Amino acid sequence: MKLHPPAFVESRAAVKGPPASDMGALIDATLASRYRWLRFPSALEARFLADTADSRLRTLLIAGTLVAFVMNLFLISDRAMLPDVFEQAVLWRTWVLTPVCLLGMWVMSRLPYPPLRELLAVSAGVLASMVHVYLAAISQSPHTAAYMTGLAMVILYNNVFVRCRFWLALPSTLAVLLAYLASLHWVEHHSLQMSISIGLVLFSTAQFTLYNLYTLEHEERHNYLMTLRQGLLKRELTHANEELERVSRYDGLTQVANRRHFDEFLAHLWERAQVTPGQPLSIIMVDVDHFKAYNDHYGHPAGDACLVKVAEAVQRCLRRPGDLVARYGGEEFIAVLNRAPLGQALAAAERVREAVEALGLPHEAPITHGQVTVSVGVATMVPADRQVSVERLISLADEALYQAKNRGRNRVWPDGEAPAPC
Ligand code: GH3
Ligand code: MG
Ligand code: MG
Repeated sequence: MKLHPPAFVESRAAVKGPPASDMGALIDATLASRYRWLRFPSALEARFLADTADSRLRTLLIAGTLVAFVMNLFLISDRAMLPDVFEQAVLWRTWVLTPVCLLGMWVMSRLPYPPLRELLAVSAGVLASMVHVYLAAISQSPHTAAYMTGLAMVILYNNVFVRCRFWLALPSTLAVLLAYLASLHWVEHHSLQMSISIGLVLFSTAQFTLYNLYTLEHEERHNYLMTLRQGLLKRELTHANEELERVSRYDGLTQVANRRHFDEFLAHLWERAQVTPGQPLSIIMVDVDHFKAYNDHYGHPAGDACLVKVAEAVQRCLRRPGDLVARYGGEEFIAVLNRAPLGQALAAAERVREAVEALGLPHEAPITHGQVTVSVGVATMVPADRQVSVERLISLADEALYQAKNRGRNRVWPDGEAPAPC
């Protein structure tokens, strides 16, 4: 059985951004809008960027490392196709682009704003395409036109490998296509047939990869929203369950445990104590004196308020681990004190009586002490002993309470001199 502490502490997972209910409505509205422009409302967009930042950074760093390697691998193609500018190729690829790429990754891992990281990644691709066109433009090789097919690699790198955000991939892809168009002017040895064929290859690569990129990002955003929605629903459900459990275990008026929770708790303590010879268990029963007269004099709502204050006072006095205070019914409270011998329970009961008296709640009815007081009955048993039972323990506490009432109220029974009610 799960033991619950007497004071219920509400816990709720912190949600970043707007409160959970607002966030839920925002997610629903965004899902309905279908976000065709691949952009969420700003609060959600910021959260999306933040939540995907780590995985994006990982992808960008892996891609950056590989591209630094592939960039140098392309020297083989430079050597074969543009031998006259090979030294320039080494200079640009190995001594400019590679360090720029490595430096870019270092800067990227320190940039706090995710879109800037993406911008850095696509810029590297665009820069690589410029170098590609430049090398072809300064070469006299007859293979320069065919060499331009290498631009497709830049588009594939940005749009397939790195999977840049669509709105950055679009201008960077256009920049590569423009670089190709410019190359038609600068690069020699172009034939019309070759230009059209390579142009179409590059254009189709751009079109397919951009379409794919758009679809993937749209899907990624959709999955993100669904996951976020599920997380919120789960939290709401957990919260509702906690609330339900609280309502089923605690008294609505006084917020101490209800009788059902108390009975379960006591049965559990009793069971455990039964296998521990000599371990005592005490019950304290508290009843407000002349409470009917209080209601009659001040009205029922004032009576309710009085009960709340009395319950708080009782609860304040019995806060040891293993203690549980409950509303036993009406204006009667009960408490179990685990491992408390009679002397300790009597001292606790006296503290309870004094605490209620110290509240100083006026009770002007003629038969009273002038203020709200309680009578307290105490009983202790050792559950491991023979011929004892939890029912007997409670009825002994009840009898003790009856004695306290009979002996003038506002007192604890048994008192110091009386024999223990066992
Ligand atoms: P005694 O000193 O012998 O205990 O006298 P008493 O008047 O307190 O005892 P009795 O059992 O005659 O009256 C209990 C009263 O408690 C009667 C009932 O109206 C009142 N009561 C029970 N539950 C509530 C409650 O939730 N709110 C209010 N305001 N009164 C309650
Ligand atoms: Mg009473
Ligand atoms: Mg009563």
